[in-house]
Amino acid sequence: MPDNTTTIADLRKKINEFRARRGWGKEDPKDMALSLVLEASELLEHFQWLSGSDVMRNPKIVQAVSEEMSDVLWWLINLADRLGVDLSDAFIQKMQKTGVKYSETLFNPEISEEERTRQYYRIKAETRGGHPLYEPEEMKVEVKEKKRDEVRVDSNQKNSNQKDVDDMLQQLFDLLEKEKVSPKE
Ligand SMILES: [Mg+2]
Repeated sequence: MPDNTTTIADLRKKINEFRARRGWGKEDPKDMALSLVLEASELLEHFQWLSGSDVMRNPKIVQAVSEEMSDVLWWLINLADRLGVDLSDAFIQKMQKTGVKYSETLFNPEISEEERTRQYYRIKAETRGGHPLYEPEEMKVEVKEKKRDEVRVDSNQKNSNQKDVDDMLQQLFDLLEKEKVSPKE
């Protein structure tokens, strides 16, 4: 049953038949969501300590990964069934939202990689109320100005400290001078 001739409805039907033959009931959607993520973690485990290209070069690992992908799909379809979600509709609607969020105009293929990354983290920052990797242009200017002001303050502070030292020295000289003129007995 290859992808190009199999529909999600076909998979749904197969899963339901498989479950019915075993008398499996309807699980709590919370447990289904949890199982989905656990299977995704099992998938991730095959990548632990390896690079992406190590995995790609090893057919045994790709096979193991594909089995975990199937487990994820199992729970995804089961969960969609349980919650009454039409996966195809939901997917297309979400793609439309993603298309607006990451517009073709903003991410046109001509922009630099640096600008692409900056725009990506700007959007992340806007939707999540901030992102550590996003530094707005205005903020860069503000930081520069702040540093310049700090240098100014620091320099003024140094001048002020130097003045205090000078005053103290002067007072000391004055005292010594006084001492010379009228030495104590
Ligand atoms: Mg598994």
